[in-house]
Amino acid sequence: RSSSTGRKLIASVDFGTTSVRCFLFDHQGRARSSASAKVSQIYPQQGWNEIDPEDVWTKFQNVFKTALENADADVSDVKVFGLSTQRGSFVTWDKRTGKPFHNFITWKDLRADHLVKSWNNSWTLHGIRLGSTILHQATRNKRYLAGSAFKFMNSLVSLRLRWVLDHHENLRQAAKDGNALFGTIETFLIHRLTRGRLHATDYSNICVSGLWDPYTFKWVDWLINMLEIPKSLLPEIKDSCGDHWGSIHQSIFGAEIPIRCVVSDQGASLFGSFCFKPGDVRLTMGTGSFVSYNTAEKPHASVSGLYPVVGWKIGDEVVFIAEGHSSDTATVIEWCRDIDLFEEYDDIETLITSIPNSDDVFFVPAFSGIQAPINDETAATGFIGIKPSTRKVHLLRAAVESLAFRVYQMCQLMYQETGVVVTKMRVDGGVCRNDFLMQLISDLTMVTIDRPTFIETASHGAAMMAGLSFGIWKSRNELQAMRQTERVFFPVENRWLDYAPLYSSWKNAVRRLCNWY
Ligand code: ADP
Repeated sequence: RSSSTGRKLIASVDFGTTSVRCFLFDHQGRARSSASAKVSQIYPQQGWNEIDPEDVWTKFQNVFKTALENADADVSDVKVFGLSTQRGSFVTWDKRTGKPFHNFITWKDLRADHLVKSWNNSWTLHGIRLGSTILHQATRNKRYLAGSAFKFMNSLVSLRLRWVLDHHENLRQAAKDGNALFGTIETFLIHRLTRGRLHATDYSNICVSGLWDPYTFKWVDWLINMLEIPKSLLPEIKDSCGDHWGSIHQSIFGAEIPIRCVVSDQGASLFGSFCFKPGDVRLTMGTGSFVSYNTAEKPHASVSGLYPVVGWKIGDEVVFIAEGHSSDTATVIEWCRDIDLFEEYDDIETLITSIPNSDDVFFVPAFSGIQAPINDETAATGFIGIKPSTRKVHLLRAAVESLAFRVYQMCQLMYQETGVVVTKMRVDGGVCRNDFLMQLISDLTMVTIDRPTFIETASHGAAMMAGLSFGIWKSRNELQAMRQTERVFFPVENRWLDYAPLYSSWKNAVRRLCNWY
């Protein structure tokens, strides 16, 4: 189309781990159209995981244009844009040409594992050698040990960035000359969308860099210096919403579109789940499972592997999330399909409820190790308890039940660590379409589960934030009316008693498969 249809649309793109999706919402907050594409993963070596930056850029533009076509809308109908992205996957590029020096190194990439291990070891064994200032600072600020900048992790940017600086001569030289830029997905996209005007990120994205301290809201300069990361590489950090994000340059889609929100997918999902208040909880079951508590302005330091992250910062409002995650959820479902345990997603339910139980077969979901509270990257995936009577359907039921057990385990940890008594959880993500699983999680946790009609909460959240900032909606109260519950799952009294021995056996199975590799 070539002219405005007079509609007022709000566009959002959610650049997730496995897919990129664009939604166009009307001013009632209803999705009018969408388009999506798979994010192509590159695995150059065992443990390495990259994404091609040009593919990121092309897919972004394609889904945007297709969503417009699907809505039969003109680009000038789009009044405002919001972006949500996976966190912690980064690229570096030449400031002068915009050309990347390498592919995106994703948050799942393990190439810097040896650095992570050796830095963490030298930290504790030879801490003294690191210099008295650092050590003093570290011990005084015990909080660093609780999971901010001080403990290195593969998923944080810090040591993967050190790795690329060590291995890319051109980048090193350009960085030395002040001609290189670093950015996670949103920074890279915003740089291209604004035709190089902005080199910026927001607080919810930078908080998993490991180079920024969520307690002081500042770069951790001593750590940046120690890792010899040139500061000229780093972006400006901005609030998640506001008029400081510039506009999508008119040469890209044919009209200038104000950008009003840049936020992490986890922050966007919490917002899109209407978890605005402290104590509000959301459970996402997509590629992985995430249990997220809104802890308001309090960063939650944890010794068991929960990581304090920023959900969003808008003016004076800072919302922290206490987050527990389990990496393998949809990956387990996909694998079950690959080995023919079922054909269609909708069949899973019928199959696993055709038997009364898994016949004491247990599954340990650890393709990427087991995260909090176990935190064992060396755990093995496996079935325990297989007998001659075991059929495919028992394996499937054991696999699905294991996903509920992991969520239950995380919820128990969240309770121990935060003391917050949860009565209701809002769910999203593809795997939450499974009623059996939702009911089981509700029975185990004794928490009511609220599943919305529209489960694309990250896209919804980014659009809501952009629309609020642009004045399309006046208040969050106005938005509440837009959330529709599709189904509520209430805990069935005493059902957890049936499951308690199974959960306990499952934990034994996990113990057996820990420290495997
Ligand atoms: P992500 O956003 O992490 O890429 P999604 O949230 O879109 O993933 O989840 C899609 C996944 O949900 C599918 O790949 C599939 O594994 C899973 N899924 C979809 N329907 C069902 C179902 N009825 N039962 C269990 N899993 C399902």
